Amino acid sequence: MTKILIIEDEELVRENILDLLEAEDFDTLAAANGRIGLQLAFSEFPDLILCDLMMPDLDGYGVLTALREKPITATIPFIFLTARSARADFRQGMDLGADDYLTKPFTRDELLSAIASRLAKQATLAKQVYTKFDAQTLSREVQMIEIYLRRTLEQRDFQQFQVYYQPIVDIHSGQIIAAESLLRWQHPELGSVSPAKLIPLAEATGLIVPIGEWVLKNVCKQTKLWHDGGFPELRIAVNLSAHQLIQPDFSQKILKFLLANNLVPGSLELELTESMIMHDINTVIVTMKEVHSFGVKIAIDDFGTGYSSLSYLKELPIDTLKIDRYFIQDITNDSQKAAITTALIQMAHNLNLDIVAEGVETEQELDFLRQYSCDAVQGFLFSQPLPVAEFENILLANKRLY
Ligand SMILES: [Mg+2]
Repeated sequence: MTKILIIEDEELVRENILDLLEAEDFDTLAAANGRIGLQLAFSEFPDLILCDLMMPDLDGYGVLTALREKPITATIPFIFLTARSARADFRQGMDLGADDYLTKPFTRDELLSAIASRLAKQATLAKQVYTKFDAQTLSREVQMIEIYLRRTLEQRDFQQFQVYYQPIVDIHSGQIIAAESLLRWQHPELGSVSPAKLIPLAEATGLIVPIGEWVLKNVCKQTKLWHDGGFPELRIAVNLSAHQLIQPDFSQKILKFLLANNLVPGSLELELTESMIMHDINTVIVTMKEVHSFGVKIAIDDFGTGYSSLSYLKELPIDTLKIDRYFIQDITNDSQKAAITTALIQMAHNLNLDIVAEGVETEQELDFLRQYSCDAVQGFLFSQPLPVAEFENILLANKRLY
């Protein structure tokens, strides 16, 4: 049963919300002030918190700040309730990490819809993060991972992280032209933590910002070593998070890493997904244009699975489209996937973009892509993601597709 904590000092409002939620079969907890609310949050670990902004002693901002400081409660969806509707209050609450904001008096439907949408979002995240075990074990497992991740980052113990490289191969020459960098985490106690758990968790908690910065720095350094080691054309792609992109100093950091390593900007490619672009399109456009003006390449990752609006293709300075693996898998037997993929290749070429197929696993898929003039492929058919030394070995051996 979904457990909701209501922190509200006005008794009448509190009782009304409680009645309403109980009628909807939610499990409820109530606190008449911020301190009791915090205690209940730490002991009961609710699924969602509704919290009044203006309360004597510890107000809603104080409650939210304290919750976000503890890994165990940092990700509980949090909705502010307030009679004040000033824009500044709204911003302050959102900046502290609130998920939503309801201005009193709100209707039953407004409240229920705000709760439903936060719970749905949390459930999507949980589904991405929790794969194999029952929900209880899982949430404990994820909480553990989060605690260890925070500790690792606090101690700046970055040698626990490793960057793997998956080759991207030119379909015509068969040669390695680029690689996508992928993060791996090996914790001394947890062992190897699956990226499928790590990345959504790091995204949800914002911890992706320091980790992503470390990856960028590390990749720039490594790319320079390969350039100097006889592979001056090699391009390395780095996956970005929406959190990184909206950092005000993002493009300056990129410039700093390029200059520090004396790296040709065009050898760095940033991979963005469609949902990241749509998340905050205006900021993304400004940042991407700036980064692109340095000469850095930009790719759209998992293309075809995101939003249907393609207008951003015109607005953004894009160099490469990466067709999502979903379209490639079984392409020779699935006429719809084949139709979509050939249209995407055509469109990319008409827009003067390079097109890379992801998740290429069979000779048949490769043949199809070659026949329709896809530019490059990435996937298990050629190679899985490799640690630095192994990637270097296949570079030196001049491993080719054919
Ligand atoms: Mg990618």
